[in-house]
Amino acid sequence: MVKKKKLRLKRSARKPMIIMGVIIVILIGIFVFYTSTKSELKSLGYSNKAISSIMQKFKWSYVMDAGENQTLNAAFESSEYDPDNLDSYRKIAYQDQKDIIKNINTLLDKGYKTSEVSLILSRGNNDDVTEFAKRDKVQYLDEFFSVEYSKLANYDRYVAYQELENNDAETTVLLVNMDFDKEEYVDPLIIDKFDEYTLVNKHRQLSADYVPDDLQAFDEDEVKTGEEVEAEASVVKAFRQMAQAASEEGLSLMVNSGYRSYQDQEEIMRIYLDAYGQNYVDNYIAKPGFSEHQTGMSIDVASATVNTFVESDEYSWMMDNAYRYGFILRYPKSKEDITGYKCEAWHYRYVGVEIATYIKEHNITYDEYYIQFLDNER
Ligand SMILES: [Zn+2]
Repeated sequence: MVKKKKLRLKRSARKPMIIMGVIIVILIGIFVFYTSTKSELKSLGYSNKAISSIMQKFKWSYVMDAGENQTLNAAFESSEYDPDNLDSYRKIAYQDQKDIIKNINTLLDKGYKTSEVSLILSRGNNDDVTEFAKRDKVQYLDEFFSVEYSKLANYDRYVAYQELENNDAETTVLLVNMDFDKEEYVDPLIIDKFDEYTLVNKHRQLSADYVPDDLQAFDEDEVKTGEEVEAEASVVKAFRQMAQAASEEGLSLMVNSGYRSYQDQEEIMRIYLDAYGQNYVDNYIAKPGFSEHQTGMSIDVASATVNTFVESDEYSWMMDNAYRYGFILRYPKSKEDITGYKCEAWHYRYVGVEIATYIKEHNITYDEYYIQFLDNER
């Protein structure tokens, strides 16, 4: 009797234990799956925030199939995530912009294709894209924005200038980015970030108090007038190497001018206005803040023996050799339309050997070079 009862008890206790065991195995299985999936997503570059969202939305196999993808990561991190746009997120090239997912959603809504959204995101910063996303779908998207240095913010100006001038799209982008659709000296860009490559021209102005931080004086015997002339230390050094090389060929290079302050430029303008009149000043003298001499990167070169530089052997030598020392003729005769300055045979800008060589080989101006390769104010 007792024996039998014991046996029954044992039998009925076995069932819940099996169930418990199965549950534990399942839980362990889930745990193992969960942690291994998470670590795999982690190794693909997904953030913890994105991973928990991916797990909640049961999208791990989709994401693992997509592999490393920063736009998907941003989508799963974002509260703007829209499941209908998942395939688009996967295809759109990532940009580090805070509202990227919101803007992608808006642009897709407006009817842009994923490749067009990628292009739009790459042609501006977060604010530019946000502004652009507010407009109706535009007509000439690929034409202008396939040019690498095009800017979203300039879209309307591209369209207007294209209609006016009938150039090809690339030329339109270049010229508008160079502010060719604006009057000289009108509504200039005020330069607030300065480095040795900063472009100063009739559309880009330095503030009155801008002074280069590493000015160095030329030696007295390097200056034709005998007065004190300064330039950035790198420019003085490069000039010396160039003058040395020229002297080995029996030529004597000197400087007439280097750094000029905003106030110096005001004074020069007054002097030339009195002496030569407004027309001369408009063509040859930069307004204060618009002179490249204020950057400290420019020098006016002279020959020790010939007063009209363009007639000197030093000038011919400079035309052939200046680029080897990082100097470019800043306002050439053939580029007056682009620089906005009449040719100045004596005015050289230091840009370093690499850029000077490129500019010489491609026969372009520094304005064009800067807009195409250095203009990061997007
Ligand atoms: Zn000059």
